[in-house]
Amino acid sequence: MATGSAAGEESSAAARRLHRLSLHLLQPAPAPADRHQQPLALAACARRVEGGADVAAALAAYLRGRHRAAQMRLFDFFRARPDLQTPVELPTAAHRELCYRQLRALVREAGVRPLTLMATDPAEYFAVMEAAGGADISLGVKLGVQYSLWGGSVINLGTKKHRDKYFDGIDNLDYPGCFAMTELHHGSNVQALQTTATFDPVTDEFIINTPNDGAIKWWIGNAALHGKFATVFARLILPLQGKGGEAADMGIHAFIVPIRDLETHAVLPGIEINDCGHKIGLNGVDNGALRFRSVRIPRDNLLNRFGDVSRDGKYTSSLPTINKRFAATLGELVGGRVGIAYCSVGVLKVAVTIAVRYALLRHQFGPPKQPEISVLDYQSHQHKLMPMLASSYAFHFATVQLVDKYSEMKKTNDEDLIADVHVLSSGLKAYITSYTAKSISVCREACGGHGYAAVNRFGALRNDHDIFQTFEGDNTVLLQQVAGDLLKQYQEKFKGGTLSVTWNYLRDSMSTYLSQPNPVTARWEGEDHLRDPNFQLDAFRYRTSRLLHSVAARLQKHSKTLGGFGAWNRCLNHLLTLAESHIESVILAKFIDSVKSCPDEKSRDVLKLVCDLYALDRIWQDIGTYRNVDYVAPNKAKAIHKLTDYLSYQVRLVARELVDAFDLPDLIIRAPIGMQSEAYAQYTQYVGF
Ligand SMILES: Cc1cc2nc3c(=O)[nH]c(=O)nc-3n(C[C@H](O)[C@H](O)[C@H](O)COP(=O)(O)OP(=O)(O)OC[C@H]3O[C@@H](n4cnc5c(N)ncnc54)[C@H](O)[C@@H]3O)c2cc1C
Repeated sequence: MATGSAAGEESSAAARRLHRLSLHLLQPAPAPADRHQQPLALAACARRVEGGADVAAALAAYLRGRHRAAQMRLFDFFRARPDLQTPVELPTAAHRELCYRQLRALVREAGVRPLTLMATDPAEYFAVMEAAGGADISLGVKLGVQYSLWGGSVINLGTKKHRDKYFDGIDNLDYPGCFAMTELHHGSNVQALQTTATFDPVTDEFIINTPNDGAIKWWIGNAALHGKFATVFARLILPLQGKGGEAADMGIHAFIVPIRDLETHAVLPGIEINDCGHKIGLNGVDNGALRFRSVRIPRDNLLNRFGDVSRDGKYTSSLPTINKRFAATLGELVGGRVGIAYCSVGVLKVAVTIAVRYALLRHQFGPPKQPEISVLDYQSHQHKLMPMLASSYAFHFATVQLVDKYSEMKKTNDEDLIADVHVLSSGLKAYITSYTAKSISVCREACGGHGYAAVNRFGALRNDHDIFQTFEGDNTVLLQQVAGDLLKQYQEKFKGGTLSVTWNYLRDSMSTYLSQPNPVTARWEGEDHLRDPNFQLDAFRYRTSRLLHSVAARLQKHSKTLGGFGAWNRCLNHLLTLAESHIESVILAKFIDSVKSCPDEKSRDVLKLVCDLYALDRIWQDIGTYRNVDYVAPNKAKAIHKLTDYLSYQVRLVARELVDAFDLPDLIIRAPIGMQSEAYAQYTQYVGF
């Protein structure tokens, strides 16, 4: 006889079995087995889907967003000014000069006021920055240095007196400036910077000093040639105010330091500037190195939003600790990161557009006695390019959401939103720029030998974009911030606290995700099931939850013997995978929402196809993880693989429409092989025929 509680357990076990059985019986029907057998010739014939142009137009309208008009004005301006268009070959000095002329023309002739936009409508500011980067990535970065970094530091870290004094000059380019944070010995580890700003109570000034060669400010954009000011990050030192009458180090603060004479442009006394020289890419930007020898600046030049020094040398701050002030200071600089993520998607779209158009145009081999087929009809080519095209769409929606959140954050100063944007911008910047950097090389290879011609752009795109992975926060370091935040949220959850918006899924379903995978659903392989957004999102979130749970346990175990730092390092690869997994979940969730919100039915169907490819390709890429824990049984893994290939084929049929919907004018594409029409003719003409 079973006891009462054992009987209860038995009956609930029976109920679970029954539930699994019912799931099994309700399993969606498998996809028809023969649909992969479609002849290649059929694919080759399917040049345009019926009504394809309408779909492209409707999709373009959906993607375009509110700020397309501002971008079009910028494109029109450059189209009318061939003297401002960047040629394929250009020596460094000429490129720098041209880049500065381009920026001045945008501001002074086209009347764009980037700092005003940044302060009033950040989304339009990012749209302008992306469009400028489309004309020349160096221009986008030069604009970013002047406005996101130099301008952004003044308006976000300073107070009214700074805005009153500098805003207009920065906006109209009378005050070109720099953002001088990185030093020769320290880039990522900003808290270890060594430049000092010592307060002199006698003269009411700060003395900016480079104490050793390791503290020389390095890589500073706009410094080698054009900058007249720099926001210099330095340790604020108050003499006699530390313990025992020693100097007190108040941590890293930002100071406005004039570096060149406003009239003569001569470098000011006490400042030494050298040129960082020719770079792998971005040679339109003049990066320089700065050394300060006891340079005096007025006390007012301290950007004092988070910490101030009074006339009698007393330090005040609304924030209690150095760490809090440091976090607040860096937190104000997320705008740069948002811009980089957004522009990286722009670069990816250009690369994918060139590669897809060329793949449609290029015909190589074919069945006996039949015409050659387009290289995009090869399964291998679809495998290279279609998931990438799907990712471009996924990243588009994710970064538009990021920009919207950033704009909202600027308006409301809502604390939850600030935390959310901080982590989301780190994660998306890291994830997207790494993806784009790899993809550009794939696109180059997918275009064969002609992909290697400089005029077809991949070399410049790759070289100019490569550093996006490093500046505005090194990607490996940024992903650790995402992982750190996830762990913090995880601990909060177990303490019963609240979670920020992007992390909500952990609260809702952590326990579901941490239970054993269901052996019945693990075998489901029907197309309806695999294309169900609930299955896809669950799979992404399951992986993140498992990674989070397991890394938390490992950290706890290792910290006993290795300490916090050692344990973190021991688990570092695990932590990076966790961060990427979380960001992929966020991207997919937004993509699914964007499919649902698409007002045009045909476009919605196309987007659903693209979204399914994005989701299933990612699951397939990480199938080992899912198999290891039996979340996916062997038959299901096989079905996912087959369906991914099939979806790549389906997306290929609308690939032209999908890249056309990016709506990138020829002025931005520029590569002859990526033109919408007469690509070969434009290419031969370029070479001189
Ligand atoms: C073209 C260009 C323009 C720039 N413009 C500016 C500018 O205008 N102003 C400015 O202040 N700076 C600028 N920088 C500097 C840039 O911001 C830094 O290079 C960047 O922050 C990375 O710092 P780092 O070079 O010291 O790299 P490091 O931090 O030394 O990184 C080196 C390697 O170590 C790894 N690493 C570092 N820390 C960790 C860790 N904790 N865990 C695991 N791996 C780690 C990194 O992933 C990387 O692979 C620019 C740089 C370049 C190249």
